Amino acid sequence: MRIDILSLFPAMFEGPFGDSITKRAIENGILDIQITNPRDFAEGKHQQMDDTPFGGGSGMVIKPEPMFKAVRHLKETTDFANRRVLLMSPEGSVFNQAKARELAQYDQLIFICGHYEGFDARITENLADEIISIGDYVLTGGELPAMIITDAVSRMLPGVLGSEESAPTDSFYNGLLEHPQYTRPREFEGMKVPDVLLSGDHAKIAKWRREKSLEITLRNRPDLLETAELTKDDIKYLDWLKEQEIQK
Ligand code: SAM
Repeated sequence: MRIDILSLFPAMFEGPFGDSITKRAIENGILDIQITNPRDFAEGKHQQMDDTPFGGGSGMVIKPEPMFKAVRHLKETTDFANRRVLLMSPEGSVFNQAKARELAQYDQLIFICGHYEGFDARITENLADEIISIGDYVLTGGELPAMIITDAVSRMLPGVLGSEESAPTDSFYNGLLEHPQYTRPREFEGMKVPDVLLSGDHAKIAKWRREKSLEITLRNRPDLLETAELTKDDIKYLDWLKEQEIQK
């Protein structure tokens, strides 16, 4: 997958993309990440990227010309039919695991990162295929959202995760939060690993994990249960859990 990021602060990406799983994916040729500074497409001696808002008000607004030029340049100089232009903004629809899986189907993603007060509305309305937010809060710029989305999407690409990491058992993949995990030692300061995990009985372990996953989801994110795929046994177990809660 080719990922292009348009950012006024390219140096911000050096750390997050220069380590761990993303670094390995780049080295293995699964990911090709290129950062482009839209300022390179701005005209004039000062290559001005922003200007004051029409109608008054505080802050500076990102000008349309350099952003349009930069996106056009990326489209003209790369050859991917299956591409998606994503604009980072709090006004977009909120990113989630399902969106990460969907975006992983594209050959090229082009991220547009804002800064200052945000974009001239002609950028927001006409330049992107999709506007994405990473949550209901306002950040300084679109760089962190672009990093977060790149990370989540790249984990969905075949070959990015090693055998020791597995996306399908992670939270959200099947609509629920993940079950608890334990490792050595079997006992730490009086806190013991549940017996079932040491039993070697795979069916029992799978049942325990599913039930714990349902329990944690019900406790922390009951909203997820409205859309998760649940079996009859899951529903029975959830009803039992709710009953226990009422009796407390
Ligand atoms: N004035 C804008 C508003 O109220 O919606 C906020 C602008 S913010 C300070 C600057 C840039 O950070 C935005 O243009 C966007 O690219 C990025 N940004 C901030 N919060 C974000 C979020 N929750 N999701 C995605 N991008 C965000």
